[in-house]
Amino acid sequence: MAKGQYEAIIGLEIHAQLLTESKIFCGCSTTFGAEPNTQVCPVCIGMPGVLPVLNNKAVLYTIKTGLALNCRISPYSRFARKNYFYPDLPKGYQISQYELPLCEDGYLDIEIDGDIKRIGIIRIHLEEDAGKNIHDGEHSLVDLNRAGVPLMEIVTRPDIRSPKEAAQFMKRLRQILRYLGVCDGNMEQGSLRCDANVSVRPVGSTEFGVKTEIKNINSFRFVEKALEYEIERQIKVLDRGERIIQETRLWDSKTETTQSMRSKEEAHDYRYFPEPDLVPVEISKETVEGIKRTLPELPQQKVERFMKQYGLPAYDAMFVTEELSIAEWFERAVNLGGAPKTIANWIMGELSRLLNEENKGFEENPVTPEALVRLLKLIDEGTISQKIAKTVFEEVYKTGRSPEEIVREKGLIQITDESFIERSIEEVLNKAPKEVERYRAGEEKLLGFFVGQVMKLTKGKASPGLVNELLKKKLIGEGEKR
Ligand SMILES: [Zn+2]
Repeated sequence: MAKGQYEAIIGLEIHAQLLTESKIFCGCSTTFGAEPNTQVCPVCIGMPGVLPVLNNKAVLYTIKTGLALNCRISPYSRFARKNYFYPDLPKGYQISQYELPLCEDGYLDIEIDGDIKRIGIIRIHLEEDAGKNIHDGEHSLVDLNRAGVPLMEIVTRPDIRSPKEAAQFMKRLRQILRYLGVCDGNMEQGSLRCDANVSVRPVGSTEFGVKTEIKNINSFRFVEKALEYEIERQIKVLDRGERIIQETRLWDSKTETTQSMRSKEEAHDYRYFPEPDLVPVEISKETVEGIKRTLPELPQQKVERFMKQYGLPAYDAMFVTEELSIAEWFERAVNLGGAPKTIANWIMGELSRLLNEENKGFEENPVTPEALVRLLKLIDEGTISQKIAKTVFEEVYKTGRSPEEIVREKGLIQITDESFIERSIEEVLNKAPKEVERYRAGEEKLLGFFVGQVMKLTKGKASPGLVNELLKKKLIGEGEKR
């Protein structure tokens, strides 16, 4: 069968590290990058006799996420022990949620090729992270700084049909988590991780094929690449008349392939049972309503409002709401009196260009909305030209100085002195009598040539509008005198 006759069925399991200051069951710090085993205590290294105490903020953040993803918040949820042995898991079990998760049955709408597609969310539950094994030559070392860091696991329904949709879902989810301030979304540092379940089936079939699970996907690009590779691989297996083995596969970003890690026959029986050291989590309706009121305006609502309130085109509205920091910067500039579309253009144009050049994110943007609005005022007043404004903006970006100061110091003020411009025009016309003749004979496009010459003579500082106006007057006026 040809490739086009199969369709892919994809479900994602996303682990998001919560931005709490302390771990989920103890007071240890969650800061990334500390010396190994410096952020540990008897609770998170699994000493006998200690008791976990649930971090309320972790529960709050999970409920916020559940509400933003249209989930039902369970009035009663419970932690369970997931038993398995691994060197980075000192207790011999992970505390997770199993049959009673905190949030269930939600969805996230994503836009794909101009259409909206709804991706269902089965559940969101809370659990603790394990430590990290560091393999160093003959030795293996264990760092338990990460053990006990709160994780939220978000499980989608198998509603995703292409690698592109999967990547788009991840992007939109990350955007919401960052808007809510519950996860920094840093995939490289592992604070947002994605496993994907994928199977293929002949188009038209309603049964699911045998699925494989891909682990270790740590960038948006890899979500797409890993799924593309795995779908292709499964189709080839089926085309050879063989069967897909249900297994866990690891994405290898170096070879850009997935490799078999373990088959399902070797899968663990986790022997889940309710965690006896923690009381069940009870959430009242009032608590949920209270949290709902603290939710910020979410990306999709913001896009719609920006289009309506500021008249931005859809593309611009999506661009300036990509990050909350951009949206806030944009609105501040608008409130200071800048024209919305102009502000958006500067964000999408010069500002993005400069940030990209240095590979910086918007939160590292050194230009204030105040500076941009003052710059726009200088253009509106005719003090500087649009072209000079770009130079000034770059200088503001690099030095943090005010636009007025830069314009004054560099002598960039646009010349609007008519007698000065007239003198420059005369000089240009005197040097090009033939072109003047041709213009007067009807070759009107030569006007551009004259404007260019005058601008050159005035080092780009003459007001282009004025140059145009005075040139026409001069060329026509003196022609009529003859
Ligand atoms: Zn601890």
